[in-house]
Amino acid sequence: MKNNGDDNWDALIEAAWKAREMAYAPYSGFQVGAAVQTASGSIYGGCNIENVSYGLTNCAERTAMFQAVANGERQLQRIVVCADTPEPVSPCGACRQVMQELGPQMEVLLINREGRQIHTTVAELLPYSFQDFPQGGESHKGDM
Ligand SMILES: [Zn+2]
Repeated sequence: MKNNGDDNWDALIEAAWKAREMAYAPYSGFQVGAAVQTASGSIYGGCNIENVSYGLTNCAERTAMFQAVANGERQLQRIVVCADTPEPVSPCGACRQVMQELGPQMEVLLINREGRQIHTTVAELLPYSFQDFPQGGESHKGDM
């Protein structure tokens, strides 16, 4: 774990655990929480939301990021992801790609109940990421 300096993550960590309580996970029983902090200082929580058609399940990380964007936020600065796992929970590939899209500069803190933490970044979680169409297509990135 890297030292996260004097940045205070406490409120964000608390929001992530609180969001986890809202998890809708009747199929896996695996509850995950997340919370995003934006440049404005606002915090948006998210939980995993499962579906009987499993592929439609939405992860906590994406729920939190989508909450932020749906509330008009465009600068996502950091995210906490929490679960009751032996090791800090790790975002799936889909969430990493969405992090790259919506918060490429984000700091990421992965935590478990025992307080174990992995402090990382989107860049570390998704090296060599797909970021834009090569040419020909008109990019609307940043237009959102
Ligand atoms: Zn995911």
